[in-house]
Amino acid sequence: MIRLTDIHKSFGPHEVLRGISESFGAGEVTCIIGPSGSGKSTLLRCINFLEHPNSGEIEIEGARAYYDIVNGRIRLHAESRIAAVRRKLGMVFQDFALFPHLTATGNVTEGLIHALGMSKDQANGIAARMLARVGLADRASHYPDELSGGQKQRVAIARSLAMSPKAMLFDEPTSALDPELVGEVLDVMKTLSDEGMTMVIVTHEMKFAQEIADRVIFMDKGAVVEQGTPQQIFEKPQHERTQGFLKRVMR
Ligand code: ADP
Ligand code: MG
Repeated sequence: MIRLTDIHKSFGPHEVLRGISESFGAGEVTCIIGPSGSGKSTLLRCINFLEHPNSGEIEIEGARAYYDIVNGRIRLHAESRIAAVRRKLGMVFQDFALFPHLTATGNVTEGLIHALGMSKDQANGIAARMLARVGLADRASHYPDELSGGQKQRVAIARSLAMSPKAMLFDEPTSALDPELVGEVLDVMKTLSDEGMTMVIVTHEMKFAQEIADRVIFMDKGAVVEQGTPQQIFEKPQHERTQGFLKRVMR
C-alpha cells in the first residue's frame, strides 16, 4: 500500500530522517514509537507530502507518488496529481485542526464539497454516516467549542473517513486529550482496524500499540532502530536503545 525507500529529510544542517525504508501493507496496522524529536512526525508528513523528502522514493498503491527522480534530481508531479494521491491518505493530528466556525457536519462536508465537488445534500448524507460511525450522530450540529477534546478528535477522524481514504495516518491522536477522553478515541481507531483499514499510528500509548499493532517500529535519531511484532518489540526488544526507551515509558 505504502512503500518508502531510503527517505532522507534535513532541515538546514539537521538530518531528521536518515534513510528510512519501510513498507505498510494493505490492512496492516503499524505503530511508530520513539523518543520526542526522533523524526516520527516528519516521517508521517513525508508519507502524505506535507514535508518534501530530500531524497528517496515514495510509492502509494504501487505507483510512484508526488515526484520522479530524473538525473538524480526531484521533479515534482503536477499539483492535481499530487492532490489525488494525497487524498488517498487520511491524516489525523494531535490538535484536531477543526474549523471553529463550522459545525461537526460542516467540518466533515467541507472537503467533500470543496475538494471533491460534491453536492451539499450528498455531502450531508455522508457526514451523517461518518459521524454515526464515530459515535457522534447526536453532535452533528455542534461547533468545536461545544465538544470535548475526545469528541473533537472523533469529528476529525470522521472528516478523514468521509474522503474514503485507502490508509489513515495518525500523529499522536490522543496526546492532547485529558486521560479520561483517550479511551473513546482509541476505541474508534480499534474499530477501524477491525474493519481492515490500513493505519500508520504514531503513539505514546504503549498498551494500545501492543493491542492494536500488527507491527511496531521503534525510531530514534531519524532511523528505524528496530521493528517487529508487538511481542518482539515489547517483550524481547533486541536493541539497547529500544530497551532503554521502553524502560522509561513503561514505568
Ligand atoms: P517526533 O515527531 O519524533 O517528535 P519530529 O519529526 O517532529 O519528531 O522532529 C524531528 C526533528 O526535526 C526535531 O529535532 C525537530 O525539531 C526537527 N523539525 C521538525 N520539523 C521541523 C521544521 N519544520 N523545521 C526545522 N526543524 C524541524
Ligand atoms: Mg511528533
